Amino acid sequence: MIQIRISQNDGLAEHHIVCDVCGRPIEDARYGMAAYSRETLEVRHLHKGPCDKAAGHQGPWVELRDHLMYLLNNTGTSGAMVEERKRLEQLE
Ligand SMILES: [Zn+2]
Repeated sequence: MIQIRISQNDGLAEHHIVCDVCGRPIEDARYGMAAYSRETLEVRHLHKGPCDKAAGHQGPWVELRDHLMYLLNNTGTSGAMVEERKRLEQLE
């Protein structure tokens, strides 16, 4: 299951993926993972390290960055579209 939280920062909405174990946002995708069950195909989003150890997950997983890239690709969202949106909203 994907948990997403929107918070406000100086009037701007910030969208975060929330760790299924600790409930905190995964703020750096390098330290996140998408772990899934071969049987149910259910996906859990976790911080690497203590959270994935606490989950006791032993099945397949992918880097959160790769998982997000697949989701963007499978929703017809290109990297160029993301870059254009960032430029228009002056993100970074
Ligand atoms: Zn966590």
